[in-house]
Amino acid sequence: MKVAYSDAHRTHDPQSFLVRGRMQRSAEQPARADHLLQAVEAAGHRVVEAEDFGSGPRTAIHTPEYLDFLETAHERWQSLGDASPEVLPNIHPMREGGGYPQSIVGRAGYHMADTACPIGPGTWSAAVQAAHTACHAAQLVADGEHVAYALCRPPGHHAYADKAGGFCYLNNTAIAAQWLLPRFGRVAILDVDVHHGNGTQDIFYWRADVLHLSLHADPAQFYPFFAGYAHERGAGAGLGYNLNVPLPIGTSDAAYLRELKRVVAFIKVFTPGALVVALGLDAYEGDPLKGLAITTAGFGAIGAAIARIGIPTVLVQEGGYLSPELGGNLVSFLQGFESVA
Ligand SMILES: [Zn+2]
Repeated sequence: MKVAYSDAHRTHDPQSFLVRGRMQRSAEQPARADHLLQAVEAAGHRVVEAEDFGSGPRTAIHTPEYLDFLETAHERWQSLGDASPEVLPNIHPMREGGGYPQSIVGRAGYHMADTACPIGPGTWSAAVQAAHTACHAAQLVADGEHVAYALCRPPGHHAYADKAGGFCYLNNTAIAAQWLLPRFGRVAILDVDVHHGNGTQDIFYWRADVLHLSLHADPAQFYPFFAGYAHERGAGAGLGYNLNVPLPIGTSDAAYLRELKRVVAFIKVFTPGALVVALGLDAYEGDPLKGLAITTAGFGAIGAAIARIGIPTVLVQEGGYLSPELGGNLVSFLQGFESVA
């Protein structure tokens, strides 16, 4: 399988992550991509350097003011004087009355859903390159590959059209889906990350041309808390084109695969021309975030079940945090997929 990748992710190395009121080192570290890259290379997959697709793909998903914020926030933050090395919000407005804030402090709150997305000097360039990486894999599939994998970092599925959140800045999965749309007619997005793909859901919530489905740990007990419930089914023309499957904390392979079967049947009814998989590996039983309990073999079975849908597929890396098995879980998923494709 061809793997789109860029070393540019290294410029993004977030240091701060507020967990239960305690500031920790972010779990979204460059070493994640190193583990994934080493594993796919060792397994014989072909790594290709992601090309530059320009600003078009990101402007098709994100608002101009949000993109301008991401690009300029670090420099503006530093010019405040006595500022932290990373941009971090300390106020989250209700977005009523006052309009778009002038101050970079106000804008940080306006455009950041939580404190998990610090903006350092290299965040923008890494996020841009991750979006190019997703586009590159989508282009490979548009050019005739049955499947391609985008090794994106930072991840994307918690990013809204105008908000960063949950380690995510640009929504790589949404960008890939939008890129595929004119080439394949209708596109389905299947999110298997342990967290609900709240940003992706919101981006396509009112649309019928992109079906969004997400299996994830129950948000009643797990990030993102405010979205990911079964009653969220889309709105307007998009009503019925969003499917959430919240799962009990600790759900293991057999129960997960039963639910996945139901989701796959839902996708087939939609008859999409292409599929984008938001491929989080943090549903792993040994993942530090401890939401679900999928085994390494389970990822292979999930990959095979998705491959049986039988349509051109772009795999976009989302979450999955440092554990000795991180790379092995990716390889297991890819092998499972290729055992069918
Ligand atoms: Zn996740």
